Amino acid sequence: MTITNSTEISFECETGNYHTFCPISCVAWLYQKIEDSFFLVIGTKTCGYFLQNSMGVMIFSEPRYAMAELEEADISAQLKDYEELKRLCLKIKKDRNPSVIFWIGTCTTEIIKMDLEGMAPKLESEIDIPIVVARANGLDYAFTQGEDTVLAAIAQRCCEKITNLKENYNIFYSFINFGKKKINASVDEQKQVNHSPLILFGSLPEPIIRQLTLELKKQQIKISGWLPSKRYIELPILKEGGFVCSVHPYLSRTATVLIRKGKCKLINAPFPIGPDGTKAWIEKICSALDVTPIGLDEREKQIWESLEEYTQLIKGKTVFFMGDNLLETSLARFLIRCGMIVYEIGIPYMDKRFQAAELALLQKTCLETGVPIPTIVEKPDNHNQINRIMELRPDLVITGMAHANPLEARGINTKWSVEFIFEQIHGFVNAKNILKLITRPLLRNQKLKALGWQNF
Ligand code: SF4
Repeated sequence: MTITNSTEISFECETGNYHTFCPISCVAWLYQKIEDSFFLVIGTKTCGYFLQNSMGVMIFSEPRYAMAELEEADISAQLKDYEELKRLCLKIKKDRNPSVIFWIGTCTTEIIKMDLEGMAPKLESEIDIPIVVARANGLDYAFTQGEDTVLAAIAQRCCEKITNLKENYNIFYSFINFGKKKINASVDEQKQVNHSPLILFGSLPEPIIRQLTLELKKQQIKISGWLPSKRYIELPILKEGGFVCSVHPYLSRTATVLIRKGKCKLINAPFPIGPDGTKAWIEKICSALDVTPIGLDEREKQIWESLEEYTQLIKGKTVFFMGDNLLETSLARFLIRCGMIVYEIGIPYMDKRFQAAELALLQKTCLETGVPIPTIVEKPDNHNQINRIMELRPDLVITGMAHANPLEARGINTKWSVEFIFEQIHGFVNAKNILKLITRPLLRNQKLKALGWQNF
């Protein structure tokens, strides 16, 4: 049984026999985010098939990623890896001229122990282009953790070399902008409080970045930089003792690098998902920077009012997270605040320290709304979960494509979990998008029932 009446969150760990996307899928959103990058995935045809199928129509848009497909001779060490990679990187440099090439290690490079980290610095100096290595393989990580491996590798660079790059970039741009007055910037900056530098980390689309920047600006907080930035050459400069804060729950390794190597202070906050999470996130940032928050309660109230038509639909309904993308705790906390009952939170990996503030908010939300605290099942076993789902029969199951249609055929509503990754869900204004996703299957089935359908 997965529901208890305890006032503490209980954690379980199963076999890890669950479906999720391979972490190399992070190239799909990271190549779009870092506009001057190129991602080279070094793996086998299996990885290639996965990327080709999971990216859908994106692969027809000349994406800035490619596969370096290993052959028999590479695996038996008859070909020279270094020469092969050099040939490919020179071709990428000639065809696309990126500011950085990311080498994405896969299961195969792990198993044959290809020394990517050893080769990268040598090749980097030879071809004169930064090469960043991230091991986003399916042996160690799940889905969104791919972004964590890439950002952790970039964070290492921020700690080491980026200062020079940034200086060069600044010299270059100060040269082109010579004579132009930054009137607006200086007026805006005057309004901001003098606080310690703040860098936010986590890849988000530009509109959300603008929204979050604006929300913090209302509190007179200035963001000194984002990791990753829009362009690799614009990476933020870390300052010892400066503050860093994440926007995603799956970036624990990046946080570790920023704390240990960058000597930054991590603001452990709930994540800005849902109006409750966003308010708590801003409050934590304000308290770390010694800024008194203004008007946050009204802002949250106003957003909740705008969500009313959706919350009425889901109030009292039950939901089960099978778990595959690490956003589960934040989404469950928001849905509980909306009035739902969460039966189980499956999650591939739980870093209790990194998610401490989020877990505390989850517990507080359950106690305040008077619903049982759901069990968090780390490394779930999909077979056991299906048995629990058939027993509990929740109103909605959030799951991957592998189980969605079979569950629908058995009369259980499902929502495909990967949509939460590609939909804009962060910040106050995007809370509506989460509820649109959640209510869509419920509304569709209501409509079908009205037409006389009983099974869909
Ligand atoms: S799990 Fe391993 S082999 Fe499969 S696609 Fe991912 S990296 Fe490639």
